Amino acid sequence: MTKQCIQPFSWENIDRIFLDLDGTLLDKYYDDYFWEDYVVQTYSNKNQVEPKSCRELMLATYKSVENTLQWTDLDYWSERLGLDIAALKKEISHLINIHPHVLDFFDLAKKRGKKLYLVTNAHPKTLAVKLGKIKITDVFTKIICSQDVGFAKEQLEFWSKLPDIQTFDKNRTLFVDDTEKVLDAAKEYGIKHLIHIAKPSSKLAPIFSRHYPSVKNFKPLIF
Ligand SMILES: [Mg+2]
Repeated sequence: MTKQCIQPFSWENIDRIFLDLDGTLLDKYYDDYFWEDYVVQTYSNKNQVEPKSCRELMLATYKSVENTLQWTDLDYWSERLGLDIAALKKEISHLINIHPHVLDFFDLAKKRGKKLYLVTNAHPKTLAVKLGKIKITDVFTKIICSQDVGFAKEQLEFWSKLPDIQTFDKNRTLFVDDTEKVLDAAKEYGIKHLIHIAKPSSKLAPIFSRHYPSVKNFKPLIF
């Protein structure tokens, strides 16, 4: 935990907790490996493209739709790459893992009477694969996908349309996410209590935010 994160919020001031999925609750290594290695290998084999240039091409392609809803849309990628992306995701589902201390945080939040919401950019088909493997669906009062809202969480419109789907008091909501751009949009909308997860992937070193209270995992939030 960074210095500014000691007592990042007071539980008395929180009613609802919005939680991101990939990188926040679940190990982002699965997603990184999937897109940067598995899809690249599969595309390269299928289309007889040399792996190194294929990887560069793919990473540039991903970047072109970064921070948009298309990035999360499995049907878009299946069509664009000519691959069954949902089926490929299932093939490596053994790599889907929950981060340490998440289940303890759920227990604490429930004990304190807080409502938990999954607020994710994950496509419903990805969600089905992940929540099929990690059985956490029942802890959430509601699951909100950006596909339902029509905008990605990085976009201010996501937040301004969210109250149409779920009422909440932005002064009494805690939101935890590993992507600063997402936190920026939530902050601009006015969500008061924001926490950044600094270690989204078990395979990468933590990168702490300089703008938000930033923790490696949920352990410092269990108080
Ligand atoms: Mg995330």
